[in-house]
Amino acid sequence: MTHIAVLGSTNMDLVTYVAKAPQRGETVTGREFRTIPGGKGANQAIAAARAGATVSMIGAVGNDAFGARLRETLEHSGVDTDFLRTVEGPSGTAHIVVDDEGGNSIVVIPGANGTVDHLSPGDEGVIASADALLLQLEIPLAAVVAGAEAARRHGVRTVLTPSPARPLPPELLAATDLLVPNEYEAITLTGHPDPRAAAAALLEVVPCAVVTLGATGCLYVTRDAEPLVVPAPRVEAVDSTGAGDTFAGALAVALAEEKPVREALSWAAAAASLSVERPGASASMPYRPEIDARFT
Ligand code: ADP
Repeated sequence: MTHIAVLGSTNMDLVTYVAKAPQRGETVTGREFRTIPGGKGANQAIAAARAGATVSMIGAVGNDAFGARLRETLEHSGVDTDFLRTVEGPSGTAHIVVDDEGGNSIVVIPGANGTVDHLSPGDEGVIASADALLLQLEIPLAAVVAGAEAARRHGVRTVLTPSPARPLPPELLAATDLLVPNEYEAITLTGHPDPRAAAAALLEVVPCAVVTLGATGCLYVTRDAEPLVVPAPRVEAVDSTGAGDTFAGALAVALAEEKPVREALSWAAAAASLSVERPGASASMPYRPEIDARFT
């Protein structure tokens, strides 16, 4: 079975639904409150596990009730949490206010994720035994770089989602095989307002990139072939939260299984389209038989 390692964040999303978000100094009564397990690392781990891989999650949760629930959520989807440490203090949380127009504001408190600033004993061994390493930017950059460099030492493919968007240090780019930004991130990273120009500019710093373009699909670029545009299946979108993480997790699995690139991209797009048809982030992520059914 394909083995994917994920080095990244786990967060509990604390989501408040309210007609209109309060202004400074204002108190309002909201409609509903939900705790939703998330974090881009955990979401990608769940996406990859449901897509059919053996997945090891490397990171940290706090020794609070959220930490226990985050671990359980991963395990429920079959993710191995032996390298997900429990550290003293709170788990990562994201405090989200969603208003009736679908607008949101978010405060992220890194909590335990902030302690993941280096590789711990055993992490390099897990990375070395994987077929691919999935990385994002919700843990300290030092650990992302250390993880990518460890993967590089062992010939393991690295797939980096550059979110939240920020400048990437040269040592991280040098150890990245595939960069998977969304349109906003690609434009932020390159300064090019057009996704095609942004994708071309990314090839100056990484050998391959996939720019995801929401309902439009994605654009794959590599240094030695023409760009490839892969459309997304047309679906009734209900909630696109986690679409990018579903896409990245499924794509890593497909590439590790050595599916040809175009097929791997279409398969990942099929997975992501299923996730947008249902509410929730990781809860909406599809299992392999559903992905195969949509793909064929
Ligand atoms: P992110 O969620 O990171 O912002 P995107 O919005 O670009 O990323 O979505 C990632 C992928 O999810 C897209 O490339 C596409 O395959 C799929 N996707 C997103 N929104 C839709 C949609 N409305 N219909 C079908 N597929 C979608």
